[in-house]
Amino acid sequence: MLYAEIADLAPKCRFRDCTQAHEPRCAVGAAVMTGDLSAARVNRWRKLGTEYRANTPVLSGPRGNKTSDPPRRRR
Ligand SMILES: [Zn+2]
Repeated sequence: MLYAEIADLAPKCRFRDCTQAHEPRCAVGAAVMTGDLSAARVNRWRKLGTEYRANTPVLSGPRGNKTSDPPRRRR
């Protein structure tokens, strides 16, 4: 994986949907602070991550959130 070291750190973040930008308990941000990661690299990875997320099908998508068509429960 191209950004393996960042993908490795992401799960250690305080928040699962961490933006890796300015979260207080961000493992990626901490690595940048200590110089283990370059901020520019994280920036590129963040952009990539956003695109990945946008393309990822959400299981609880429109169908699950639909309120105009409630499930019919007939016996
Ligand atoms: Zn983070």
